[in-house]
Amino acid sequence: MPPKVKNLVWRICRDCFPTRVKLRSRGVNCPSACVMCEDPHEDSYHILFHCQAAIDVWNAAKIWHLISPSLNQFDNAPDIIFNLLQRLSTAQLELIVTIIWSIWKARNLKLWQQVSHSNNTILARAKHLFEGWRADNHRQNLVSPDIISDNPSTSHQNGDGNIRWRKPRRGRLKCNVDASFSNISNKVGFGMCIRDSDGNHVRSKMLWFTLVCSVDVGDVTPTLDYFNYLIILII
Ligand SMILES: [Zn+2]
Repeated sequence: MPPKVKNLVWRICRDCFPTRVKLRSRGVNCPSACVMCEDPHEDSYHILFHCQAAIDVWNAAKIWHLISPSLNQFDNAPDIIFNLLQRLSTAQLELIVTIIWSIWKARNLKLWQQVSHSNNTILARAKHLFEGWRADNHRQNLVSPDIISDNPSTSHQNGDGNIRWRKPRRGRLKCNVDASFSNISNKVGFGMCIRDSDGNHVRSKMLWFTLVCSVDVGDVTPTLDYFNYLIILII
């Protein structure tokens, strides 16, 4: 799957999907109403499976009948997605999670740019993303390992869609960073690791903060901190 789709589904299943209800639970002062239909409770279940705007997309894709049986058993998005994982084929799941990404994209475009997209546009965007990713993946698999070893890219995607860490070019360092979010402690944790061109560990650092922010902001914040840290290391 495209990494951005995987990341989104991971956030939904880990209950860190930045819906308005979730943001308000973390202290963000924003309305709780659905961006698409003004329903008073915009959580992940509503956005993806209850909102009429989403149901219209699923119907346009002619796959609502695949999803609706799970709604009879579960009333939250993570459980519904796990149930779909158990029941459906890989091809059906690829289609569903890519459309989930496009529904969320449509919601954000309406919220931040006041742009409304038709169901066909939402489905076409999902199809475009998935087919583009599959074509790129196919091209990468055709490249010989020797050529890839000279490529300074930060990572390489395998045929199964998993991202494999790659060494940086000789004489360079590579710094990987990540962030995690705890609903229980309301804290954000950051981690970084620097390795050299032989893959050896050079430096690593972990930080955590108590702050209220959306997941997107939380992903960017450590990057700025790490640039400062790297500058100090270099000096
Ligand atoms: Zn709605």
